[in-house]
Amino acid sequence: MIARVTLEIALRKEFDYLIPPGLTGQVDVGSRVQVPFGQRKVLGCVTALAEESAHTRLKPILKVIGAQTLVTPKILKLARWIGDYYCCAPEVALKSVLPEAVRHEQAGWRELLYVRALPFSGELPKLAKRQKDVWHIIEERRELPLKELLELAQTTAVTIRRLEDKGLVSVAPQISERDPYGREHILPSQPLPLNDAQAKALAAIKAAMNGVIEAEGDKPALVSRTEALAHLHAVGGPHNSKADEPVNGKKTPARTFLLHGVTGSGKTEVYLQAIAYALEQGKGAIVLVPEISLTPQTVERFKARFSSGSLQTLVAVLHSHLSAGERHDEWHKIRQGRARIVIGARSAIFAPVEPLGLIIVDEEHEHTYKQQEAPRYHARDVAIVRGQMEGATVVLGSATPSLESFYNCSQGKYTLLRMIERADDKKMPVVRIVDMRQTLRKGTSTPIFSPQLKEAIAQRLDRSEQAILFLNRRGYATILQCPLCGFVAGCPNCSLSLTFHRQEQKLCCHVCAHTEPVPPVCPNEKCRNPAIRYSGLGTQRVEETLAKLFPHARIKRMDSDALKRKDDFRRILGDFRVGKIDILVGTQMIAKGLHFPNVTLVGIIYADLALHQPDFRASERTFQLLTQVAGRAGRGDVEGEVFVQAFTPFHPAIQYARRHDFAGFYEQEIGFREQLKYPPFSRIALLTLKGRNEEKVKFSAEHLKREVEKALGGIKDLVLAGPAPAPLLRAQTYYRYQIMLRARRMTALSKSLAELTRAIALPEDVTLSVDIDPADFG
Ligand SMILES: [Zn+2]
Ligand SMILES: [Zn+2]
Repeated sequence: MIARVTLEIALRKEFDYLIPPGLTGQVDVGSRVQVPFGQRKVLGCVTALAEESAHTRLKPILKVIGAQTLVTPKILKLARWIGDYYCCAPEVALKSVLPEAVRHEQAGWRELLYVRALPFSGELPKLAKRQKDVWHIIEERRELPLKELLELAQTTAVTIRRLEDKGLVSVAPQISERDPYGREHILPSQPLPLNDAQAKALAAIKAAMNGVIEAEGDKPALVSRTEALAHLHAVGGPHNSKADEPVNGKKTPARTFLLHGVTGSGKTEVYLQAIAYALEQGKGAIVLVPEISLTPQTVERFKARFSSGSLQTLVAVLHSHLSAGERHDEWHKIRQGRARIVIGARSAIFAPVEPLGLIIVDEEHEHTYKQQEAPRYHARDVAIVRGQMEGATVVLGSATPSLESFYNCSQGKYTLLRMIERADDKKMPVVRIVDMRQTLRKGTSTPIFSPQLKEAIAQRLDRSEQAILFLNRRGYATILQCPLCGFVAGCPNCSLSLTFHRQEQKLCCHVCAHTEPVPPVCPNEKCRNPAIRYSGLGTQRVEETLAKLFPHARIKRMDSDALKRKDDFRRILGDFRVGKIDILVGTQMIAKGLHFPNVTLVGIIYADLALHQPDFRASERTFQLLTQVAGRAGRGDVEGEVFVQAFTPFHPAIQYARRHDFAGFYEQEIGFREQLKYPPFSRIALLTLKGRNEEKVKFSAEHLKREVEKALGGIKDLVLAGPAPAPLLRAQTYYRYQIMLRARRMTALSKSLAELTRAIALPEDVTLSVDIDPADFG
């Protein structure tokens, strides 16, 4: 027998190997194997078995890794799809489906020495006092790690050996499973009663899980123009994909749901009960949550529900804060079928849950679901494809759905489920927009607090209520600038100004992490002005100004600079929850899913910060962020109030967010997308060339453009833009040029692109990357 193997070294090719007699029956599709390659031994994955090979003199497989095939045939198929669709080599796609800790040659189980009591008959042999004490502990526990015993009994290994000699105990290595949440004490929870909207949503999801396809979901309540548009596109319009694109509702139209639920509408309870139903059907579930929202609180809610009762199962957690060992053990709990529910960030979509009944993608609009390095997959879109491949129901949840997903509902590709009332009957917070241009006119060059916000904060402090202040920029000041000669401190590696961090007295680059000391005078030789100034605003400066305005307030800052240790995040939130902090200042880290009943005020310092990014999704991102942040206010008994400070207060993204009007925002934004032929009315492939020599990169980009025109000229409706310098031309010492391709369908485009990128000759020090459906244009 022959095994076809994809090697881990990047070769974009599969190789045939002999299965030696000694390994007969052990090698299967999905097995991880070690094979000879030239002089080396390399790891790979078996992707097919065959009777014969076109090649002669095949070398034999050296060994098989792991007792079980690590990549199941279903995951292998998914990896193949990722390679094809996202235009990357199969070995790159395959690598992403197994956690690093699982791919290693050595099994990653942790073995500890365990002491175990042995059965004995008759009298207990004569023991010294000390030996007797130790024996009593072992007798009571029956079995425990040696290390723990030594600590417990305050004794040495010699004593234990004596007991072993007397035939009372055995000491042997044993696998000790790591449990990242082993120290938590989790109280079991019961299903909560559902309100009408929740019950309706759950019923629709359950029906789909039963294979019943509901004819009628909620049609999006849109005004006529959009509906007309939607109708137009339904008849042969763009995005009417035929095969293999992440969004193809045609095969199983009612299996993908978009659960549009406002903040506090009780989405999680619907998820929990849908998962329970999957378990009842003998199937498992995957829950994707953005890394930043994967707090212990979130994990506990899932663990609590399934920790006991007839549906009891292990809930495995996969995210980047686990140690390699913990990740290894969690993954194997899933592969062995002991954990039937997986909750995790992006890559948890590859968890080998089988059979899979349900995939939930919470906060589906989050762009962190898109991986920034190859394979550049979007976990939400992979979820939809995996759902189709395995017949699993997919639920995308969000308070601010992505335009793409909402559009797919209007196309009948997804079924829309709406929960527009807060489950707790709390009112939506009142949102007040403050025109910062007025504050600017009255005085300082960088106004931070409008009189209105200042007043509101003072009120909250008087009433012992809490406030959250939000600014999506860390550091103290954006730039260090000389008012005399105009010098701006820039990063030597990136085309970006450095941010001033006052507490550390340093200038930092937020792209490459370069830091340098603050110059005492203007570095310009001819100027040397000592009065060099900071302008712009970051969270550090908000915190400092706040402390001056309200000297008695207890203020804490939460951003990546403030969090130094692993548990800082949890500790600060814990302090805030119990009222040890009055005002929390932070970046987007505090925008998500946090629930504090005593917070009655949210202040957004500069709402238009993200509006002027060179990205067609800038408005959408701003709308989403404002809605999310505003949702933090008024989750308790007192009505919440939100102050949105903005320099462009009449921008639609800000105005629609003020009225909590998703449908209104959608309608105006989708019109703009259609006019300019941006997604969802097209699909984008972004080609980026990078290298240290700008001229060479530019020249290569021109060459690439000509090749693209030659190779892809036949693709209908192809729009080519560029080459142009990337918005951030130089990052980490590399110059970057981009070409943007837009087409109605991606499948043909990515196929031709894969061929082109394999064939094209580029200078050695210029690299090309392809990003399909990019989330970021930086
Ligand atoms: Zn100067
Ligand atoms: Zn830099």
